[in-house]
Amino acid sequence: MTDKLKMLVSEAEKSGCKVVFEPFLRDYTTFRIGGKAAALFELDNVQKCERLITFAAKNSIPYFIFGKGSNILADDNGTNAVIFRLSGGEPELIGENTVRCFAGVPLVKLCGFALENGLCGLEFAYGIPGSVGGAVYMNAGAYGGEIKDVLTSVKALDKDGNVHDYTAEELEMSYRCSRFTHSGEVVLSADFTLQKADKDGIKARMTELMEKRRSKQPLEFPSAGSTFKRPQGAFAAQLIEECGLKGLTVGGAQVSEKHSGFVINRGNASFEDVMELIGKVKEAVESKTGYRLECEPVIISDREEYKV
Ligand SMILES: Cc1cc2nc3c(=O)[nH]c(=O)nc-3n(C[C@H](O)[C@H](O)[C@H](O)COP(=O)(O)OP(=O)(O)OC[C@H]3O[C@@H](n4cnc5c(N)ncnc54)[C@H](O)[C@@H]3O)c2cc1C
Repeated sequence: MTDKLKMLVSEAEKSGCKVVFEPFLRDYTTFRIGGKAAALFELDNVQKCERLITFAAKNSIPYFIFGKGSNILADDNGTNAVIFRLSGGEPELIGENTVRCFAGVPLVKLCGFALENGLCGLEFAYGIPGSVGGAVYMNAGAYGGEIKDVLTSVKALDKDGNVHDYTAEELEMSYRCSRFTHSGEVVLSADFTLQKADKDGIKARMTELMEKRRSKQPLEFPSAGSTFKRPQGAFAAQLIEECGLKGLTVGGAQVSEKHSGFVINRGNASFEDVMELIGKVKEAVESKTGYRLECEPVIISDREEYKV
């Protein structure tokens, strides 16, 4: 362990923060792929995030932020960086229709809280297996809804340890994109403004969308959800299917037979299997249709060729 890492661990212990040494990232990602990181720090509130992430930034300790790891593809070679994993916390009502959440709150918990309080607007997000922070980071969306439709403000931490309060308008949110995808800031908490509605109606819509997911998506296999962003004017899954790539396999990685937009881990897929398969799909789709597919999951790797 380097001296800097020892200092960070000591800070973590003072804050009552759980540390896992040399964790396998496959245990923290829904793709179930990834080697060891230097250490993983579990951060379950805003104060711990401010203290530890700022300490790492100021001491030039490389780090990655994790939520639920549902949009991450990690290298089997692992990383020398540390992982700050934001998880836990409870949503709270801060106004009649406004809910505030620590970034580590699972989206499904936020949706359940909205339902309990008879608040609608988040039904689309029910079933997206991420955290609030991860959903804000990439403006998660489904079935015609997006996080930006209900988000009113965000508290975020910059690399110098300053906390900023942003209104939704300042967050530059668009399809799978926000200021956080390029600013390096960490989402600490988010406020959502919803609408009063009948609980039965909210529940029915959530159940309907969950059923849709179950019938259309290969939820029985590990994955990071949609592997490719939707190109302008087309659907990635449709293009992949038209190119005859459904079921294409490299090692343990496969273009799902159930949903061509998903690359799945059939059991023992390696990082390189997935990267090779993604490369093959991109190449075939571009040469046959002219569309350039872009990878949606975030790649965690220390190798130059995979750095984003
Ligand atoms: C089966 C399945 C279905 C899915 N369906 C959908 C869907 O319908 N719609 C959709 O949009 N996505 C979908 N996803 C992808 C994924 O669930 C979302 O992108 C989700 O928002 C990721 O959240 P996370 O907490 O898991 O983020 P992670 O995967 O942990 O992280 C993803 C990125 O967000 C960054 N990040 C995480 N938390 C923070 C934070 N607090 N501050 C700053 N950056 C942060 C990470 O550094 C990383 O770059 C699906 C995934 C799976 C496995």
